[in-house]
Amino acid sequence: MLDPSAAAISIHNLEKTYAGGKRALDGVSLDVQRGQIFGLLGPNGAGKSTMINILAGLVNKTGGTASIWGFDIDRHPRNAKYSIGIVPQEILFDPFFTPAETLELQAGLYGVPKGQRRTMELLRAVHLEDKANAYSRTLSGGMKRRLLVAKAMVHTPPILVLDEPTAGVDIELRQQLWAYVRNLNDQGVTVVLTTHYLEEAEELCDRIAIINHGRVIANEPTRTLVGMAQEKVVEVTVDRDITHLPDASCFDRIELNGERVLAVTYRKDRVNAGEVLAALQREGLGIVDVSTREADLEDVFLNLTRASDAGR
Ligand code: ADP
Repeated sequence: MLDPSAAAISIHNLEKTYAGGKRALDGVSLDVQRGQIFGLLGPNGAGKSTMINILAGLVNKTGGTASIWGFDIDRHPRNAKYSIGIVPQEILFDPFFTPAETLELQAGLYGVPKGQRRTMELLRAVHLEDKANAYSRTLSGGMKRRLLVAKAMVHTPPILVLDEPTAGVDIELRQQLWAYVRNLNDQGVTVVLTTHYLEEAEELCDRIAIINHGRVIANEPTRTLVGMAQEKVVEVTVDRDITHLPDASCFDRIELNGERVLAVTYRKDRVNAGEVLAALQREGLGIVDVSTREADLEDVFLNLTRASDAGR
């Protein structure tokens, strides 16, 4: 039944329309390979949490299929659920339980036998050993977030999903969380994280899918997306009205930004602005003014989301 070569998570044509009619997922397909740190990136409202909540069994999909560690979430919901640990966005604990009790309770819910529980080991891993017996309500926000990560790992799932793990978290804690996530990944845990911070996705993830309005608009190895950030734009004002767009092999793209203004996109790892200008001059255009701008991952993200918005 279980195919050991199956993707950690496999999602096909996933759809969700909420009761009020909001279409949060509009045919999402993607695979997360075992051993990856996979980033699900997208603006607020893109559908990231909806997707995670479907995998967690908290939201019912309205179409498509999903399997976790080879287990279809409809046909083998229990096995699917045991294969994944989810760190939710919202911090919700009973304030009168201690961290140790919180983990014991969670282990109980998952039927982990007492002898196999890893309460202290997990608390150590998230640097909460000395808070093991403190009330949850006395923990700082950062400590609570770390406790949530430990809670998601009590049943030793092969996949850990973190929904916006560092939203509202200070830099020091963010670094600690990242280190812990990397450490788990080194030990073989497949990690999925949702974020709207590009920097976080770039720093941690092997592969990034960008989701916008419930659709996947990019799904690439991180270095490919970063490669797209090698694009540079030179805006050139010329001495006459432009009647046709010039073309040259050193251009990636050329657009008209005004009657006499051209925006040429090129790859800064392959060409330089001088070559771009020379190509325009060869077309008989006199150059009046030039400005250049570096693209970064933010631009790539904006370009992709803008293009997908325009196509709607
Ligand atoms: P993200 O996690 O990317 O910010 P969400 O999955 O939370 O996005 O939301 C996707 C869309 O679905 C948003 O427009 C949101 O308002 C809507 N939505 C989320 N949860 C519900 C719900 N329970 N009922 C109705 N609409 C919802």
